Amino acid sequence: MATLRFKALEILCTRKPIPVKREENLTSDYYGMLVFDRPKMKKYLSKESYKGICDAIDNGTTIDRKIADQVAIGMKAWAMENGATHYTHWFHPLTDGTAEKHDAFIDHSELGGVVESFSGKLLAQQEPDASSFPSGGIRNTFEARGYTAWDVSSPAFIVGTTLSIPTVFISYTGEALDYKAPLLKALNAVDKAAVDVCQYFDKNVTQVQANLGWEQEYFLVDEALYYARPDLILTGRTLMGHSSAKDQQLEDHYFGSIPERVAMFMQDFENEAYKLGIPCKTRHNEVAPNQFELAPIFEEVNLANDHNQLVMSLMDKIARHHGFYVLLHEKPFAGINGSGKHNNWSLSTNTGVNLYSPGKNPKSNLQFLTYIVNTMKAVYDNQDLLRASIVSASNSHRLGANEAPPAIISSFLGSEVNRMLDLLEENVNDRKMTPDEKTSLKLNIGRIPEILLDNTDRNRTSPFAFTGNRFEFRAVGSSANCASAMIALNSVVAAQLITFKKDVDVLIEKDVKKDEAIFQVLKKYIPECKAIRFDGNGYSQEWADEAERRGLTNIKSVPQALEAYLYDKSRKIFTDLGIFTSIEIEARVEVEMEKYTKKIQIESRVLGDIAINHIVPTAIAYQTSLMENVKGLKEIFADAEYIELAGARLDLIRKISGHITAIKAQVNEMTEARKVANLIEHSKDKTYAYEKTVRPYLDTIRYHIDKLEEVVDNEIWPLPKYRELLFTR
Ligand code: ADP
Ligand code: MG
Repeated sequence: MATLRFKALEILCTRKPIPVKREENLTSDYYGMLVFDRPKMKKYLSKESYKGICDAIDNGTTIDRKIADQVAIGMKAWAMENGATHYTHWFHPLTDGTAEKHDAFIDHSELGGVVESFSGKLLAQQEPDASSFPSGGIRNTFEARGYTAWDVSSPAFIVGTTLSIPTVFISYTGEALDYKAPLLKALNAVDKAAVDVCQYFDKNVTQVQANLGWEQEYFLVDEALYYARPDLILTGRTLMGHSSAKDQQLEDHYFGSIPERVAMFMQDFENEAYKLGIPCKTRHNEVAPNQFELAPIFEEVNLANDHNQLVMSLMDKIARHHGFYVLLHEKPFAGINGSGKHNNWSLSTNTGVNLYSPGKNPKSNLQFLTYIVNTMKAVYDNQDLLRASIVSASNSHRLGANEAPPAIISSFLGSEVNRMLDLLEENVNDRKMTPDEKTSLKLNIGRIPEILLDNTDRNRTSPFAFTGNRFEFRAVGSSANCASAMIALNSVVAAQLITFKKDVDVLIEKDVKKDEAIFQVLKKYIPECKAIRFDGNGYSQEWADEAERRGLTNIKSVPQALEAYLYDKSRKIFTDLGIFTSIEIEARVEVEMEKYTKKIQIESRVLGDIAINHIVPTAIAYQTSLMENVKGLKEIFADAEYIELAGARLDLIRKISGHITAIKAQVNEMTEARKVANLIEHSKDKTYAYEKTVRPYLDTIRYHIDKLEEVVDNEIWPLPKYRELLFTR
């Protein structure tokens, strides 16, 4: 009987690109057609309610019940005209992905039957059964219930036949149970702190917006092959698989021409994304075979993040229509590139200035310098917290694993910006800068953009790189919710800007001129955070050694990295800014620790199952056929000749036996280690136990399986091989 693998390969041979109907209109004609955006609000709402909701979006005012009712009526009318029959509060619980529970618009009618109805109350707040979402123990200690509340700043949209309303998810006692609630608070905090600092430079600045442009990397595998790999189905990555003779060594995939079947998927997907107002801009092949990237035009962080979550689920759906399965895991295949999600981040003002863009005049350049130095200081002081915000079981295969960013946080600034900071630092220590020197320094900064934009050596090994008008936080994992990184980054920058303002104001009170005060504080900060600046090769051992000398941390362990949330310094930032209470921080760490434990637990179980149920029987079958063969040789040939002929086969039989024995023994040991770990009550200790005593078996058992794959008859090997998964499209 053919294995599932061969059946899948047969299906694969018949695959053809599925043509996508080209939209007849221009993209701009149907862009956002499924979003309840301002033009639609204007059309479907009364003047009063339109003004009410715009005020709420722009200035954070609250929406009263009357306005909410009016908005609900308009939203329902628009949604029903576009085929919606249901609505849902769409939220980001602390799991992977988003959550939704659909309710039909129907209600009993007084005349019998039903009518379509929707109200401000239903729009504004709902109580999903919260007990099945992770809460880190919050609900045990407090209230069993949680509720979702409308986030007016992100517009409602229609997926399929469901009107989706972006919401925050909060426990009944007010603790955040999601990613969005703290994200909104962090964005608020950085807005306020940055406005206060901008006031030194321009009194017209009243609002600062944080921007996010994410770059989503992913793999595509054929759906038929996917279904023949239980490890992919259950864990999102291959837990075994011998490397393909050819993979990415010819460097022929990156930016290569996109295979047609894939191009059709991308086009189909992008059409749908455009309808949802997601500004997909760039698509290309990535470094590894069957790896691709998608990047939109950047947007305000909260909206950009909603769009990223939407994109991840949309990709999954559309890919199936094309016979593909999308792998968002950070490391689906050992030995080749993993996937990340670079978070391009910047701050911009209501006056149209990007605070990370070197300006055209001395004043805006001092502002640029101010933001760069404060960002460096925030990143240096909170390197551990930033790392904590991006670690996970799946991302741990990238970080510090000799590709993608290392587990050491550092920042690439480029030689020009570095030179400016060095200049400032040198000039300051012993004497005041002359006005001429200051002006020339500021003017020089104005020349940075040209230099930087021409500069193609934007260091790709840096976890936090300045790329001319933004920072790229590159350590974020491909499957992550960007909010986690964005909460941490915006919070630490906000806290630092507040400190900066205090430091400058102290000097101003002592009659130091504003400009000079800013210079002095920056001069003080630059040496303090110098250690975080690194432009060299972040993957090298020399950097690991150098970083250690500089006192930078290099934490590869996920549970250990997560503990940075609990540092006094981190708690102080979050609680002072009102982003998390101490309870929420502890709950979050608990959730992340549990997630890690469970993921390793699942991987370990799946590996054990496949090893014992798929691999060992296959190896035994092959070994048996070898033994039959040897017996045959013995019958036919005389002793001397037999010994010569059977030698290699006997070696192979022994080798296979060795691997089978090792697999069986190690699977047993791994199961025992799990049993011991499962008995540990304290979640942190349990996580460490899983990391230290269970996780290592994933590699050692895999080693033996991969060795068997090398020798066992290809015809009976049950799992699609790397060459099949990676080179079919
Ligand atoms: P890369 O060369 O790093 O692959 P891409 O062009 O693929 O860059 O993606 C860069 C991302 O950065 C895009 O999403 C883009 O919109 C975003 N971006 C550009 N400028 C800014 C900015 N000022 N702030 C935030 N994101 C930005
Ligand atoms: Mg990038």
